[in-house]
Amino acid sequence: MDKWIWQNEQEIDYITIPHWREQGVIIAFTARQGGVSSPPYQSLNMALHVGDQAELVWANRKRLAGIWDLSLEQMVCCQQIHGSQVACVNSEMAGLGAKDYGTSIPGVDALTTDQTGIILATFYADCLPIFYFDPRQRVVGIAHSGWKGTMGRIAVKAVNTMVQVYGSKVEDLEVFIGPGIGPCCFQIQADLGQKVCAAFPEFDVIMYRNSEIFWDLSLTNRKILEQIGIEPDKILECGLCTSCNTDRFFSYRRENGKTGRMMAAIGLQQWGRYSG
Ligand SMILES: [Zn+2]
Repeated sequence: MDKWIWQNEQEIDYITIPHWREQGVIIAFTARQGGVSSPPYQSLNMALHVGDQAELVWANRKRLAGIWDLSLEQMVCCQQIHGSQVACVNSEMAGLGAKDYGTSIPGVDALTTDQTGIILATFYADCLPIFYFDPRQRVVGIAHSGWKGTMGRIAVKAVNTMVQVYGSKVEDLEVFIGPGIGPCCFQIQADLGQKVCAAFPEFDVIMYRNSEIFWDLSLTNRKILEQIGIEPDKILECGLCTSCNTDRFFSYRRENGKTGRMMAAIGLQQWGRYSG
């Protein structure tokens, strides 16, 4: 887990991890360039629920799926309610939420699977995407962790599902925490600051600048994961702030809520049995 890189394929820019790609993992976090949507969704808006035209979103999603020779029928999306429930996805669920938001898996903010040829897809404009890969059991997962998800420790709930359902061992898991709003921009109110300090008294994740309060969501999620036994050198943080980089990313906060969404996608390609 030494690095992430930018890649450009099918006209779009996305972040990926070569170390996972080499092991047959589909992994991408999209940027906002290279799509077909118009302002305020310009241009690679991946989400159906933000008011953009569905046909344009399908075209954007097809560009990404095309990188792996997959189709929208192999994509699976969930509703994302800023909760902390996790769904286990099998091939019968393929296509849920891919063309119609109404068919997205309800009440869920994290997805896991051990089956090949499925793209687990979640959507972002400042919240943190947390990607998981177990190279031994060959299981992948994605969790949508904004401030509510972080308070609800969804990062840990996704790990618990991988352990209980798929037999993953915590020490085998590799984690990538993608781009999100950084401690440079994520200002919070005093009452939330107090709740964060109460929830994570052992972590140093709140910063004070000129009597304003800022929260480091990425570091909080890293600490939560380290606390349950994920090895620190198996957690990679992207570190890019979506709010500082609106040329590259959609930012709900910076753009006052009227904007598109990036997609975090993860899946497994057909692959030989892991032996190691
Ligand atoms: Zn920032």
